[in-house]
Amino acid sequence: MPYKFTFDLSKVPRFFFTEIAVIGYHSGMHKTFLNTLQEIISKFRIQEATGLNLSDAVVVLQDLIELQAVNLMERGKFLETKKRALFLPHCARKFMDNRCRANFDPSIPSYTCAHCSPDCLVNKADSLAKKKGYDVYILPGGSCVPKILKTTHYEGVVGVACGEEVKLSKEILAGMDVAGQAIPLIKNGCANTIFNMETLTKTL
Ligand code: SF4
Ligand code: SF4
Repeated sequence: MPYKFTFDLSKVPRFFFTEIAVIGYHSGMHKTFLNTLQEIISKFRIQEATGLNLSDAVVVLQDLIELQAVNLMERGKFLETKKRALFLPHCARKFMDNRCRANFDPSIPSYTCAHCSPDCLVNKADSLAKKKGYDVYILPGGSCVPKILKTTHYEGVVGVACGEEVKLSKEILAGMDVAGQAIPLIKNGCANTIFNMETLTKTL
């Protein structure tokens, strides 16, 4: 399920994400969590940069922090895995129409990138992950995750998606004893979405 609102954090300074990571690390210890979030929203002028109202900005930040905390908890287990997959969202393709030359195989179900555009984020992520030995899937939705994991067993999975989709997939992975690492979209909206390649590179 997508968020009921759109956001774009791609222009927010990188330091914002460092701060989110630090809070994620200490999230269990924060007594004044909501105050901290509101301070960050004000400090990085998130509402001005994204047009979000305060409560939606809090939802986005809470999800980012929660996700960061889970990534840290799972990191040790993930690093021990050998057979891994990368799940990419179809919404991050450069084109959502037939200019995207990817082939969709409903039996998997996944797109296979045809590498038509060097500046396509999905293309870059696909090439990087394959070089590192990952199988790569480009998914039309989170419901494809259990289907793929039932037919091909992976020990570790890196998933790129918006916060809401990540939450659903996290539960699926936990039920299947697969170690997961999540990369959040920093611009959502179900088309022309953006994730951070540097974060993906570090995570892989
Ligand atoms: S590079 Fe791949 S995913 Fe991106 S638009 Fe082309 S075929 Fe589609
Ligand atoms: S933003 Fe992308 S990952 Fe999130 S629900 Fe929409 S299509 Fe799925």
